[in-house]
Amino acid sequence: MTQTVSELEFTQQLSATPKSAEERAAILANPGFGKYFTDHTAVVDFTATADGGGSWHDARIEPYGPISLDPAAGVLHYGQEIFEGLKAYRHADGSVWTFRPEANAARLNRSAARLALPQLPEKVFLDAVTALVKVDAEWVPSGDGESLYLRPFMIATEAFLGVRAAREVSFRVIASPAGNYFGGELKPVSIWISREYARAGRGGTGAAKCGGNYAASLLPQIEAEQNGCQQVLFLDPFNNDAIEELGGMNVFFVFKDGSLVTPALSGSILEGVTRSSVIQLAKDRGLTVTERTITLDEWRDGVASGDITEVFACGTAAVITPIGMLRGKGEEIGSADAKAGEVTLSIREQLLGIQTGAVEDTHGWLRRLA
Ligand SMILES: *Cc1c(COP(=O)(O)O)cnc(C)c1O
Repeated sequence: MTQTVSELEFTQQLSATPKSAEERAAILANPGFGKYFTDHTAVVDFTATADGGGSWHDARIEPYGPISLDPAAGVLHYGQEIFEGLKAYRHADGSVWTFRPEANAARLNRSAARLALPQLPEKVFLDAVTALVKVDAEWVPSGDGESLYLRPFMIATEAFLGVRAAREVSFRVIASPAGNYFGGELKPVSIWISREYARAGRGGTGAAKCGGNYAASLLPQIEAEQNGCQQVLFLDPFNNDAIEELGGMNVFFVFKDGSLVTPALSGSILEGVTRSSVIQLAKDRGLTVTERTITLDEWRDGVASGDITEVFACGTAAVITPIGMLRGKGEEIGSADAKAGEVTLSIREQLLGIQTGAVEDTHGWLRRLA
């Protein structure tokens, strides 16, 4: 599908009932994650034309609030939905920045292609994010480890129950203040090996960031919690012995010789922006990073022999999280009270430092929003 996009100007309809400075301060004092939303939202609509093209139009900032959707809207029946996740950080001088948004815009379009949704021009993605953060800039917290989490998403809004790609689509961005994920201490998490369930299959949507993958991960996530774990590890859906990723984070292994290994993009793994940033930062340090198959057996043996010294997960929301223990039916690898490793902590500090302006951004990853 091809679309034309003329210069889209975001019109602004400001909220008549924004939160007062006091209400906002109370929320920002303890925002948690994904619980509170800012006063506005960015919206752009798409309408397809008969020739298979179409256009994005009606770019606007409007008050945050419920969406009016026809009950027959495609997203409600066939799950035609994709999303992104990125953050805005307040730097010491008060300016507001985001991290590699072009990578999120590109990934949104890869997801869109797989879900038969229209391509969104990168400029529209960046303009939407920028317009929203500018109007809601006071919602960007300034505390240590805090940020404004941005959630762009695209949904099929056309009212039609026949099974085909929708011809009416909306792209939206909402924003939610996020506290320090770990409240100071970085405690390693325990991970449950999902044997019965996969989040993705051969030729499926595993490499796309879509709601359906998350729906598939919720039952195994409950299973993980019932087994005393915080997260699920998914194995490759073909042979069931290679490590893929967690429900929403990629995985890295640190070896005794200092080298790093992360599962190669198999077609069913989501390519994280954090994953690619960690690869780059490790290479900058002269470390060898290999993207390859790594099996559960290699993990088990590596931890037992001491060859694997650290394991961590990474993604935008939690940045970098050490993995202490891997648990499956009748087995445990590692230890629940392991300490976060040196390499894990050091890469985490560097990445957070770049994002928050404390460490020099040598790769040009930051983009100013306000
Ligand atoms: C979003 C996501 C990640 C992490 O991607 P980042 O761009 O680093 O936030 C990893 N795995 C899955 C399944 C995801 O949806």
